[in-house]
Amino acid sequence: MVSSVMPTYGRIDIAFERGEGPYLFATDGRRYLDFASGIATNSIGHAHPHLVRAICEQAGRVMHVSNLYRIPEQEKLADRLVASSFADTVFFCNSGVEALEGATKVARRYHFHNGEPHRTRIICCTHSFHGRTLGMLSATDKEAYREGFGPRVQGFSHVAFGNLNEMRAAISDDAAAILVEPVQGEGGVNAAPEGYLKALREIADEFGLLLIFDEVQCGMGRTGKLWAHEWAGMAPDIMASAKGLGGGFPVGAVLASEKAASGMKPGLHGSTFGGNPLAMAAANAVLDVILADGFLAKVERTAASLHGKLEAVVKRHPKVVEEVRGSGMLLGLKCVVPSGDLQTRLREEHGMLTVGAAENVLRLLPPLTIEEAHVDEAVKAVDAACAGLARDAA
Ligand SMILES: *Cc1c(COP(=O)(O)O)cnc(C)c1O
Repeated sequence: MVSSVMPTYGRIDIAFERGEGPYLFATDGRRYLDFASGIATNSIGHAHPHLVRAICEQAGRVMHVSNLYRIPEQEKLADRLVASSFADTVFFCNSGVEALEGATKVARRYHFHNGEPHRTRIICCTHSFHGRTLGMLSATDKEAYREGFGPRVQGFSHVAFGNLNEMRAAISDDAAAILVEPVQGEGGVNAAPEGYLKALREIADEFGLLLIFDEVQCGMGRTGKLWAHEWAGMAPDIMASAKGLGGGFPVGAVLASEKAASGMKPGLHGSTFGGNPLAMAAANAVLDVILADGFLAKVERTAASLHGKLEAVVKRHPKVVEEVRGSGMLLGLKCVVPSGDLQTRLREEHGMLTVGAAENVLRLLPPLTIEEAHVDEAVKAVDAACAGLARDAA
């Protein structure tokens, strides 16, 4: 008999009843060090007092009113996102995939508005992940996700991530935009090669395409800067954000330059829940923490320490792990053994939670609020788990 919860996930048989900072407590009382963060979503850890207070207070005032009216909390968050990014304007939704659907609509409408309605194709990359709606299944580079779900939505093509020649060759009359994750998450934790993002900017400008970044996973401080593309010293035209933005509350956002959003006007896009006062209170509280003086500099330092200490673990256990990948606190351990074995060992024997990724990579996605002591705790667990796996193999 089918479970009452539709069986769309392979779930681990643990349930949590409470969290505190980077720790989760299971119903059997066991404590776990959470280096999964709800897949890069609990950006400021569990039960952060400032976030909890903001949500409780807002829930007691007003949760939802619809976008038929002005929403001051939404205007406040939009102002702050605009002030701290390339963007001039923001649309709010409830998830990452919705932000990417919105970004695609904004890009296509831009060309329509400019008298080039044939420009609809979005050029995406191999190993990309952009979510699971019917539309974004066509942007995501994974055939298995599409199988059995009907005709593929047209208007998306793929080139090798990091390959500029392929990108140039893929551009023709119907090309509307380039869609890239500055650091790929699900696809195996692949950071864009040096110079790639800047070159994409130049190509987009040369051919009149819009450049869309998917920062659903790598944005909101995860790399040690608020937006991952800031490391490349350039900016996209449109960007999707979600995951860490609400700190665990569902919030997504489409950020766009004035030019890129020039085709949008009232009635062209919408979301009933998008940008409601409760969601906006949550995201504003997360921003309070992440934008506080010195916070991102500390993320960068702590992440560098984690990266360095993991490199040393990799050197000690070359038969188990071969490489540390990624940027900031979006790190991947490329495994020699099946990555699932390391993940299971970490969880069962060392009480540490991680997330899988493609290419036999194990992702480490701690809350951005971790301290050096948590780095040491995590590194000790990974070292011990690797030593155990090496022993088993011998
Ligand atoms: C998680 C993710 C998405 C999809 O976000 P949802 O909130 O699950 O819809 C899209 N792009 C990237 C890069 C992601 O990591």
